[in-house]
Amino acid sequence: MNAVLHRPTTPAEAFELLERPDAMVLSGGTAIQVLLKQGLIAATDLVDVARIPGLAQIHRADDCTRIGAMVSLRQVETNPAIRAAAPLLADTCGRVANPRVRNTASVAGNIAHGDYRLDPPTALMILDATVHLASARGTRDVAAREFFVGFQATAVERGELIIGITVPDQPAGSSHAYAKKSSLGENDWPSASAGALLVGAGSGTSRRLRLGLGALAPVPRFVEIDVSGLDRAAAVDAARSVAEPLLDPIPDIRGSESYKRRLGLVAVADAVTEAWR
Ligand SMILES: Cc1cc2nc3c(=O)[nH]c(=O)nc-3n(C[C@H](O)[C@H](O)[C@H](O)COP(=O)(O)OP(=O)(O)OC[C@H]3O[C@@H](n4cnc5c(N)ncnc54)[C@H](O)[C@@H]3O)c2cc1C
Repeated sequence: MNAVLHRPTTPAEAFELLERPDAMVLSGGTAIQVLLKQGLIAATDLVDVARIPGLAQIHRADDCTRIGAMVSLRQVETNPAIRAAAPLLADTCGRVANPRVRNTASVAGNIAHGDYRLDPPTALMILDATVHLASARGTRDVAAREFFVGFQATAVERGELIIGITVPDQPAGSSHAYAKKSSLGENDWPSASAGALLVGAGSGTSRRLRLGLGALAPVPRFVEIDVSGLDRAAAVDAARSVAEPLLDPIPDIRGSESYKRRLGLVAVADAVTEAWR
């Protein structure tokens, strides 16, 4: 059965439509179209939210950036304010697929898709972003670190719409890197990925390392460790040791479990080495 396409122009109209049992939000459509064609999802109503005002805006505040749900991954990658305040997120969004996908895919559609291999969630977890949700029942916020609740499962409940994401600025003096390892081609999904943010990079006294891991378990993982007093080699060893128990890779066409486990530790080492620059 073909799904009916709706184009609400107000949040209230969208919320009412989303209360229908098999309704789905449609943003960029890059994931939905593939899943519908493959028969992996069955939606009776597709609720295209592109005409709802305010969802495609980027707002700067003193110490954070609010990114509207419909902002494209390409905009996140290239927006000067985001590049200045949260370069880890901009760089990570710039590694998603190819420019065609990034120009169409929205930041909310990306995280709502819930695939364990997604690139942006690693940066959103490292930066301690907050996801803003709204529905006919009201609004609520969920920390990005608690948003991915299981294999292909997120905190979004039936009837809810992601309306935006708030991303705190990267701490002054921090340095970052994102290592993406793809087996089938440069623009392919990662077989393993790791983001690293070194906070307190210049001080030498108190340094913390935040790590985000993608494609290495049924959900993206986050961990933070104290690396005060360590040199780069010791920090890489510490990061690999703390990451190793978090790895629970899913074998597929892109590699066996043991291959992805080894590749994951290479991604962690590369990200930490680069962030230590
Ligand atoms: C060829 C290809 C390669 C790809 N490679 C990568 C890759 O390397 N790395 C990577 O990270 N991703 C990759 N992707 C996935 C891509 O990032 C997602 O398809 C995209 O981000 C989804 O965004 P969208 O706006 O198109 O979402 P849609 O396709 O419109 O929706 C996706 C899901 O999110 C839900 N949704 C959308 N918007 C909202 C909202 N506002 N509130 C609540 N739920 C919502 C939809 O109901 C649906 O379940 C790839 C996709 C393709 C097609």
